[in-house]
Amino acid sequence: MTEAIDRRPIPETQTTVTLEYRVAMPQPESHLFEVTLRVGGWSEDRLDLKFPVWTPGSYLIREYAKHLQDFGAEDLEARSLVWRKVSKNHWQVETAGIADIVVRYRIFANELTVRTNHLDGTHGYFNGAALFFFVPGFDRQPMRVQIVPPHADWRIAAALPEVAPQTFQAADFDELVDSPFEIGIHRRYDFHAAGKPHSLVVWGSGNLPAEKAIADIERIIEVEAELFGGLPYDRYLFLLHLSGNGFGGLEHKTSCTLNYPRLGFRHPDKYNRFMQLVAHEFFHLWNVKRIRPKELEVFDYEGENYTPSLWFCEGTTSYYDTILPYRAQVYDLPAFLSILGKDLSRFLTTPGRRVQPLDESSWDAWIKLYRRDANSDNSQISYYLKGEMVSFLLELLIRRHSDNRRSLDDVLRQLWKRFGRDEVGFSADELKGILETVANTNLDDFYRRYIFGTEELPFDEYLEPFGLKLKAQTDDRLPFLGMRTVTNNGRTIVEFVEAGSPAQKAGLDAGDELLAIDGIRVSGEQLNERLADYRAGDRIAVGIFHQDELRTLRVTLAPPRPSTYRLVRVDRPTATQAQLFEGWLGVSLSSL
Ligand SMILES: [Zn+2]
Repeated sequence: MTEAIDRRPIPETQTTVTLEYRVAMPQPESHLFEVTLRVGGWSEDRLDLKFPVWTPGSYLIREYAKHLQDFGAEDLEARSLVWRKVSKNHWQVETAGIADIVVRYRIFANELTVRTNHLDGTHGYFNGAALFFFVPGFDRQPMRVQIVPPHADWRIAAALPEVAPQTFQAADFDELVDSPFEIGIHRRYDFHAAGKPHSLVVWGSGNLPAEKAIADIERIIEVEAELFGGLPYDRYLFLLHLSGNGFGGLEHKTSCTLNYPRLGFRHPDKYNRFMQLVAHEFFHLWNVKRIRPKELEVFDYEGENYTPSLWFCEGTTSYYDTILPYRAQVYDLPAFLSILGKDLSRFLTTPGRRVQPLDESSWDAWIKLYRRDANSDNSQISYYLKGEMVSFLLELLIRRHSDNRRSLDDVLRQLWKRFGRDEVGFSADELKGILETVANTNLDDFYRRYIFGTEELPFDEYLEPFGLKLKAQTDDRLPFLGMRTVTNNGRTIVEFVEAGSPAQKAGLDAGDELLAIDGIRVSGEQLNERLADYRAGDRIAVGIFHQDELRTLRVTLAPPRPSTYRLVRVDRPTATQAQLFEGWLGVSLSSL
């Protein structure tokens, strides 16, 4: 990795250099954080400052320096120092023997996501990678952050220890980046789970039932602590942002940030989705934050860290976010099977699963998963989704091979003991080795077909020993057209056209405006109802605007296709099937 080459060896003078950041926000409505970095004990003629281009957990070059303005450097008497920009994220200050340097800049913060910064009249939220320079060669030493809130009633929530009033200390730059801050007016709930203190800090209004949610979060913490044999931290912070329709999570070692729709808690399905998000980000404190691929062992904040193993980091975590809330009794068996069924449906109706192998999906996260376009579903499969499906198969395989004496849990426990506890990165081969040891079988063929290859996943073959099968659901009235639409300003816009579908063969494109079928106006909501008036083989005239051209396309409809899949019991389960099922899910197969 370039990291080791790029950063200079730590000089012997390191211990005498001090780094202190100060974050003020005197006018939060301007969305500008005012940041000062004071470097003390400097002995070289030049000070290099670099700004991260991405943050761990979100595998996309985000060019955080694009939000930086008003850069300046001075000595303690406020005399300006000469500086220059060397590259997009690299500043150089001529220090000319001056030991104490003050660097000032402002960061525009108006993007409310878990991996960016947001500052307004109600709060400030930031991620270290999007706010702080690092000094190459001096990023492995303790550093302090002082927060200056703009109002007396603004409070600070942070995962870092507070070592002086409003001053926090990170062991190194990695820890600083891994510890987001929430400053402002928020609700704070402190609670204990599995013997450790936890806090839930909530910014924004909404219908979160705090008491019930905390009780459920406690059970999720306990179930995960039990899986791994304890909690590897002193305290943990859940930061929750409630907003209009935001959705996301970002994991850290001792905290996570969650963004969720403020009114998304009343309906049980939506509440369960929130609990999956909690279980997911919390599971990451082991899987990916401590148990991590070799390629993510040392973060290169200036470029991509390519790894073929994100399918395990994210996909296995996604499998666990479906089953852990069930184990924690947050939801029941029908809810669990329905959630798994929805994920199976999403997977089996994404044509890109036949095009992009899972390891390649992991590798290309940087240019594909976070940069979706109209062709994505035709050419890609998310390493979250297929990783979840492959983890599900591995769970069934391990349980079947061991008569339920072992499970995917043992894989996680072995990875924790061998790699996670000491934070040694695992290679893709070492991961496969542990999977093979626990499964007690060679997985060359499994990997060749389903991880390096694009063969259809054999769900029924793996489900059958557990007395289950997949049931495809097809609306027989509905001939297949092969496109999705969205409504935009009252207009029906084609959002996706499936490769090889009747719609694509006829020339329909993403971006086209749908106007009419056989001369009668049709909206996105009416589309399926209109198609139900036809049969496979019928030729229909589809009126569209293609850019600004009015066109009529002739489409020959194809036979109906399954749109959803469900997990159901096989017709006459045997005692062995019932036993395996009960060993996996803890309840009788006959309860299905
Ligand atoms: Zn994740």
